Amino acid sequence: MPSPASDDRASRPSDAPSSRPSGPLLGGSGPAPGPAAARRPVGSHTPTAGGLARAALPYVDAAGSEALQIYVGNPRGWALPAGDPAQDAAFRAGCAERGVPVYIHASLLTNLGSPTPETVRRSAATLAHALRRGAEIGAAGVVFHAGSAVDAGHAEVAMRQVREELLPLLDAAAASGGPKLLVEPSAGGGRSLASRVEHLEPYLAAVDWHPWLGVCFDTCHAWAAGHDLAREGGMTETLDALVAAVGANRLWLVHANDSRDPCGSTRDRHETIGKGTIGEAPFAELLAHPATAGVPVIVETPTKQHFGHADDIATLKRLRP
Ligand SMILES: [Zn+2]
Repeated sequence: MPSPASDDRASRPSDAPSSRPSGPLLGGSGPAPGPAAARRPVGSHTPTAGGLARAALPYVDAAGSEALQIYVGNPRGWALPAGDPAQDAAFRAGCAERGVPVYIHASLLTNLGSPTPETVRRSAATLAHALRRGAEIGAAGVVFHAGSAVDAGHAEVAMRQVREELLPLLDAAAASGGPKLLVEPSAGGGRSLASRVEHLEPYLAAVDWHPWLGVCFDTCHAWAAGHDLAREGGMTETLDALVAAVGANRLWLVHANDSRDPCGSTRDRHETIGKGTIGEAPFAELLAHPATAGVPVIVETPTKQHFGHADDIATLKRLRP
């Protein structure tokens, strides 16, 4: 697949200021950005069991979240549940009142690159459902994993599937001003379609650099995929490489997670910020990099106690400039 020359990327309409997260991503149908949005709003993946507003809003308050991410179905299943209109309305109002942008993480089973047609069909239906739910609750974006070709011989077809399935979703979301889609590179291994940041260039090119597709950068995944974030300057270099691959205005969300495994392991086991193999210092680099200015940062670290992300959120707030 031909790659665009880097010097014409800056002039692409998709890289216009309107695709910045400080623009319509946080505004438009979503909540108004609070004061923290001008910085790097920090929050966490947030539980919703018991009711979207009833469960998530108290968690947001107790954890000190300035942004949040939720599932809108079983993350390990294909069910596409309808929302509860009263809880949706209360949640939407509560998030707007707090000025916290909302992101949806699509089911972890989503794989548009699968060699199994039924999986591709269900993956596209899952994304369509998440986009619809996102519009209902005022979400800014829907995050999904880049996917895997599974079989070595399926790689080229897999990228065609990505194009065929994503383009209609992106066009429909753009036409209605709905949530954006954010592709998250994986931890690598298993014929992954995108794990290292440079793999994002052909992925974005596959959908003609559609203005409604951005990137969610997960630190644990990048580390697992072989980016040495722990070395001094390593995080900065990796984010520079991301900008070189997809331009300065495609990074719309960060998943900040430490790791339990060594660099290049292709294993995706998250750890508390500063307590894992990445360590604390690279997160200060992350939060100081120009590419993350105005970009929400979500932690997906393991939690033991109830409002368990409060410590990680406090750590990141302390580390940001
Ligand atoms: Zn993640």
